Amino acid sequence: MKKYFLFGNWKMHKTIKETLEYADCLKGYVEYNEKFEIGVFPPFTALESFAKTVRSMPITVGAQNMHYEEKGAFTGEISPLMLKEIGVKYVLIGHSERRHIFKEDNGLINKKVLSAINHELVPVLCIGETLEERKSNKTESVIKEQIEQGLNGVNSNNFIIAYEPVWAIGTGVNATPEQAREVHKFIRELLFHKFGESSNDISILYGGSIKVDNFGSLAEVENIDGGLVGGASLDCSTFIELYEIL
Ligand code: PGA
Repeated sequence: MKKYFLFGNWKMHKTIKETLEYADCLKGYVEYNEKFEIGVFPPFTALESFAKTVRSMPITVGAQNMHYEEKGAFTGEISPLMLKEIGVKYVLIGHSERRHIFKEDNGLINKKVLSAINHELVPVLCIGETLEERKSNKTESVIKEQIEQGLNGVNSNNFIIAYEPVWAIGTGVNATPEQAREVHKFIRELLFHKFGESSNDISILYGGSIKVDNFGSLAEVENIDGGLVGGASLDCSTFIELYEIL
């Protein structure tokens, strides 16, 4: 069964104290629903406190990144085993900021996706074109490459795709429902080509300047199966409002 998600990517925001206040605010607002799920992706330092606090609530927890090895001399990195141990379920892989600021390429991203699946974490593979690529009609070829290389060797459908056009992330300019519809349809076709019928269960989220006033028209688009929210997820009541829209 395909699920619909609202995920909040906090990026490098919130101390443990602020995280616990947020968890407290979520209490009572979210009820269990087998079709709709709400998940929060705090920074590494606050992950364990958040995971512990929401353990008895219908809220899932994700990490914003991970290394693909289980352990070793990788100063500053966090392994899939460490994430599993504290109750993390999802992990963002290849977020635009990882690709562009930290120079992660499709090869590295693929290793992380495979490692996440091997460790029974659900990777949320983030893909999207830059403004320059869109203007030069390369959106489809970039998306195709990111999907094909990112999912190379993957033979399970237990992952999520997040389409986040780079030009929409943190800019206040979201993709229009029409722009998102075209790309999501294209992604759905690519997944069908690779995974056949079982691809129908793979959720494809939209991300990039989601706000309360634009989410309704995006969430109703065919093949948009939820949202990955950055800035607007930092305020707990806004995040709850977005979940109600979904
Ligand atoms: P934004 O970020 O909602 O602030 O545009 C989305 C993301 O980076 O996941």
